[in-house]
Amino acid sequence: MNNIPFLNLGKVNEPYFERFAAATERIIRSGRYIGGEDCTSFETKLAETVGCKYCIGVSNGLDALKLIIEGYKALGIFHAGDEIIAPANTYVASILAISEAGLVPVLVEPDIDTMNIDSTQIEAAVTDRTRGIMTVHLYGRVAYDTSMAEIATKYGLKIIEDNAQAIGAVSEIQGTNSDKAGGLGDAAAFSFYPTKNIGALGDAGAVTTSDKDLADAVRAIANYGSDRRYHNIYIGYNCRLDPIQAAILSIKLDDLGQISEHRQAIATVYDKKILNPKVKKPEIPAFAKSHVWHQYVIRTEKRDELRQFLTENGIGSDINYPTPPHLQPCYINTLGKKQFPIAEQISKTCLSLPISNVIDADTATIIAEVLNNY
Ligand SMILES: *Cc1c(COP(=O)(O)O)cnc(C)c1O
Repeated sequence: MNNIPFLNLGKVNEPYFERFAAATERIIRSGRYIGGEDCTSFETKLAETVGCKYCIGVSNGLDALKLIIEGYKALGIFHAGDEIIAPANTYVASILAISEAGLVPVLVEPDIDTMNIDSTQIEAAVTDRTRGIMTVHLYGRVAYDTSMAEIATKYGLKIIEDNAQAIGAVSEIQGTNSDKAGGLGDAAAFSFYPTKNIGALGDAGAVTTSDKDLADAVRAIANYGSDRRYHNIYIGYNCRLDPIQAAILSIKLDDLGQISEHRQAIATVYDKKILNPKVKKPEIPAFAKSHVWHQYVIRTEKRDELRQFLTENGIGSDINYPTPPHLQPCYINTLGKKQFPIAEQISKTCLSLPISNVIDADTATIIAEVLNNY
């Protein structure tokens, strides 16, 4: 009997135990538990990694997205009631950020093969209230192309990247700041939720941009709205990143290349060894570096039965995501008035297989063989 959990975070973090403990002890002894050198050096490292001028460490990915929108509001670029185009197939947090900031999400269907926003359908969703496109590099695959960039330029839209899942991915084409996920649009949000490719030991996130005004606004809004001590220019929030999390993330960020390459190698094993015609494998993009495989998502008609079969064979799996945002109770009476059949089809047929630094090629082969016996 196999015993392969979908994800074992204790094991994922095991190689880092000593370094994490040393960094944590150093910070405890330093007496500085908010802000400081660990935060700044992590921010510098992440900004360099994605090719942006600025990075602001924040509390989590949802706050990072929301702070970008609030930042554009503070600068008078977005206003309450403006529309942001976003993919119908995403984790609900992408959409929550838009609503929480007082703007209106306008959903666009995914492409069934990439499972990311279908750029050919973006222009039809543009109205005179549209101010931005939130692109989500879902499952670790870059969702950015020439057509998206052209529409943004044509209508004067800001491109906001939800880069919760694709840190380390590289785009085939150059973006606004670089060719890296997080540097493609005007601003990007990162999540370091423990399960992400670079995961903290709790909640953490970041914003990257090369727009100084936006960076200043985001930093101030995330720190009670203050631009300097006891001076509040915005009615802000407290959405800061802790130095302990920053130090931990800094240690992991040094391994980013290796982490992405390992996931790409596991995806290649799955791609070669899963041969069951009932299982639709994810499309492998022509440009290999554009996918860092946060999830390896297969599709199959009898998904729940297949999942049960894997469970009986001691193999964990997950569903990302069982309910698309527009069908969530909180959105059913608004976004749910429109139909998004492709997003719904993905939610009913998708299944995520184990992929992390704990899964090696032999384990992936065992999983593929079990799937072939279904
Ligand atoms: C994880 C995730 C978020 C939210 O990040 P948190 O750090 O959990 O707030 C947003 N969007 C996507 C696509 C995510 O995967």
